[in-house]
Amino acid sequence: MTGPTAGSDGIGRLRWQAAASVVKPLIVQAWRRELRRRAVDETASAAQRSCLVLAPHPDDETLGAGSLIARKRGAGTRVRVVIVTDGRGSHASELIGPRALAAIRRAESRRACGALGVDPADVVHLDLPEGGIASRIGEVQDAVTAEVERWEPDDVLVTSGLDWHEDHRALARAARLAVPGSSGPRLLEYPVWCWADGPWSVRPGRSLRQAARALVAEPVTTARSAHPVAVRAGQRHLEAKRAALAEYRSQTTNLTGEPDWAVMDEAFLSAFLRPEELFLTPPTGRTTVSAWSAP
Ligand SMILES: [Zn+2]
Repeated sequence: MTGPTAGSDGIGRLRWQAAASVVKPLIVQAWRRELRRRAVDETASAAQRSCLVLAPHPDDETLGAGSLIARKRGAGTRVRVVIVTDGRGSHASELIGPRALAAIRRAESRRACGALGVDPADVVHLDLPEGGIASRIGEVQDAVTAEVERWEPDDVLVTSGLDWHEDHRALARAARLAVPGSSGPRLLEYPVWCWADGPWSVRPGRSLRQAARALVAEPVTTARSAHPVAVRAGQRHLEAKRAALAEYRSQTTNLTGEPDWAVMDEAFLSAFLRPEELFLTPPTGRTTVSAWSAP
């Protein structure tokens, strides 16, 4: 199909971006509300279910599931956290190189998981380079399978296949392959980037008409198919999550003072420090997650 695209038509693109920037935050809020409305409350049973938490980067486990982890650990239920990449790519800095940044984030993640009550022996780092999951799906799938077979968790938690970050989507893909759901543990996906920015898989080169349709259609479709589960956070679980997030100083403060050092500010964090966390059930029969790339 030919016609103006979001990436090539100057005036059309600017009008589109202006309209989308106004509408998108409203749709994100409506999408979150709809997921909450549809969610099945599993607070009563959550503490007793052991789980394996898969995080593409150090901090995702806390953003997406920190309160739930604290609740489980408070009840003495086992939680094992596998952090797949080393997070070396979160910031380009003149003062801290990728290897040093990876070491900082590793130490932060150990303290953060400690704040959530996770035993240090149950925090595992696979140390893939950040951005490297998609090209090593089989290896990650095998690692997840080995963890599941060894520890036999009730649930496996992974980042959502709706997140726009390729590492997040790729890890969801690996988890769906390793945990198909027909037997063994249940797979649930925790939203991080789609929770913050919306569930759009907007691709460069998509036509304006396609983009406009997707602006409404994708949130509706994903809300209908997500089958969310909600777990409420007690005050002490929320406090543990806040304390864990504070351990990620490289992500929540300007560690070097460089002007382009991005931080997760209070506005961003407030979307995750809510009185409940939501987890999405992967669509039935879908073991794949499409790559986030041009069609
Ligand atoms: Zn991440």
